[in-house]
Amino acid sequence: MAIDKGILTPATVLQDVPVNISGYTPENFNSHCNGLIVASKALAFSLNIPAVDLLNKTGLSDFTNTMKRSGFQSIRKDRELGLSVILGGCGVRPVELAAMYSAFANGGEYMPLKYVTTDTLQRSSQMVSAAASFMITEMLTGLIRPDLPNNSESSMHVPKIAWKTGTSYGRRDAWSVGYNKSYTILVWVGNFSGEGVPELTGADMATPLLFELFNTIDYNSGSNWYSAPKSASIRWVCSQSGMPPGENCEDQIMDYFIPGISAYKNCSHLREVYVSPENKISYCMRCLPEVGYKKVLLPNLLPAISTFYMQNGIAFEKTPPHNPECARLFTENAPAITSPINSKSYLLEKNAAQQLKLTCNTEADISKVFWYINDRFLMSSKPGEPAFFVPDEGICKISCSDDKGRNSDISISVDFY
Ligand SMILES: [Zn+2]
Ligand SMILES: [Zn+2]
Repeated sequence: MAIDKGILTPATVLQDVPVNISGYTPENFNSHCNGLIVASKALAFSLNIPAVDLLNKTGLSDFTNTMKRSGFQSIRKDRELGLSVILGGCGVRPVELAAMYSAFANGGEYMPLKYVTTDTLQRSSQMVSAAASFMITEMLTGLIRPDLPNNSESSMHVPKIAWKTGTSYGRRDAWSVGYNKSYTILVWVGNFSGEGVPELTGADMATPLLFELFNTIDYNSGSNWYSAPKSASIRWVCSQSGMPPGENCEDQIMDYFIPGISAYKNCSHLREVYVSPENKISYCMRCLPEVGYKKVLLPNLLPAISTFYMQNGIAFEKTPPHNPECARLFTENAPAITSPINSKSYLLEKNAAQQLKLTCNTEADISKVFWYINDRFLMSSKPGEPAFFVPDEGICKISCSDDKGRNSDISISVDFY
């Protein structure tokens, strides 16, 4: 559905960092985050955070309505479903999943299952477009898969199928579902009592059985494979984002997309920055000196990603602090001074050199803030790290600039007793 809404293609690079969506903080199965990850890999690895994030962007009610139309009984009954539905936060029967995957096997067209030949066929519905269905099949057919059973290459014939594994919370259910043009097979392994088993994973328990079943009924039937429908095309994209290449994107790969639907904004994973010769400070056009600067390409990371990298000790090329002498005032997202409090009076002991604490909240990609007292530079500090100063009596103007040159001022009054 995200593909049909233009949000996603197989090469789209997604964020896999801790998120908080209105209080909901999903975690990956192994509690590990990857930072950035390509969509097809996120799907094969069954990563929870990108899935929740994507559902949030795609729209929960559109998703659950489609699932209801596609035969999911417990989704139809449950009125209180949240974003966790994408992780299996609802009951799902194997036959429901099998019917859904056979829709992918049939160009996105959902058809209720028939159990006996005399079953009258119920109406079919288009679950996703033929193009989206084809791209999902491509993503689930990739040869390098993290969810191949252990040692499978040496011991097992891997059938030509699209497949997906799953392991439920508490290792109660291990399942693996696969399809080709002739068959859709779903394997569920677990205890009927619902008791979890530490060794139970879809990849190690259900997939070997799935492969064996395909090899038994349909050995080597790979010749008649899916081809792209007319509604899907191929384009070059930047490997760093999955978006059409910008002027600085050198590593380009081929990717499927839906013309007129898939997002087409050019990649800007790198941006040009003017810096001093020793990479100490960066300049904007306003404060760029006439000589003594160079132009460099630096990663253009979203605050959530750069914060994740910094918190996890992942090295990346940071943009140097912005020229502190720059007169340009950016108006949006300047540091918010949280201590002292604007327009308050502070009563301090005379001749005791009492200090006031300076703190602020900044954008996540800020590495340095600069404090000024009555327009005189006091000191620089890291965001989140308090600074201190001894004020004089009277009105005191406190300014905080970040390394992008954005500035906030507050004013307090100080009295001695
Ligand atoms: Zn790029
Ligand atoms: Zn500047």
